Amino acid sequence: NTFAEIDLVEALNQNIRRCNYVKPTPVQRHAIPICLAGRDLMACAQTGSGKTAAFCFPIISGILRSTPSQRPRGARMVYPSALILSPTRELSCQIHQEAKKFAYQTGVKVVVAYGGAPIHHQLRELEKGVDILVATPGRLVDLLERARLSLQMVKYLALDEADRMLDMGFEPQIRKIVNQMDMPPPGMRQTVLFSATFPREIQRLAADFLSNYIFLAV
Ligand code: AMP
Repeated sequence: NTFAEIDLVEALNQNIRRCNYVKPTPVQRHAIPICLAGRDLMACAQTGSGKTAAFCFPIISGILRSTPSQRPRGARMVYPSALILSPTRELSCQIHQEAKKFAYQTGVKVVVAYGGAPIHHQLRELEKGVDILVATPGRLVDLLERARLSLQMVKYLALDEADRMLDMGFEPQIRKIVNQMDMPPPGMRQTVLFSATFPREIQRLAADFLSNYIFLAV
């Protein structure tokens, strides 16, 4: 019933203590071990449930435990290991702020990109390198066309507030983005989908993007 009992890397545990998180919330208690075990996850969870940490902790832990991956040679591209998609600028910035606290002094670099703001600054930031990219779908599609950015090495994909993303009409952009990640061998990528509701469209998205997933409702 404490974070110390969950098998996260020590640097992350230190940051969790710095954030004054003592007890995992219900979604964290269930989702984190599922993700650490490498399973895909469809989680029904509301805002305020602690879902940001639920998908960020396994990502950061996984990156810190991995050996540096072999990147394709030659191209001067930026290859994030993790992608977090969220519907709005506000939510993306919130996730970015939290993820930076969790990744503090670990060397894991978190970058945010969202629409409705000039693209040039985001392009420059991205091309300096990124481990965890937090983005809104529309802006990410633009960036994929303009930046030296590749999603081929994305090992962790998190879709936050997926129902809101679909309500906002982002399904074509999400599909375009996920299609760009389908280069690695199947099973290499881990995908988690968070949604407040579980209507038919979300069930379809889960069926298309997740493999052999666990369903969690808290
Ligand atoms: P979220 O649902 O991810 O937006 O989180 C809601 C709020 O709860 C945020 O302000 C988090 O920083 C905070 N929070 C998340 N998990 C915990 C925890 N285990 N203990 C204390 N606060 C938390």
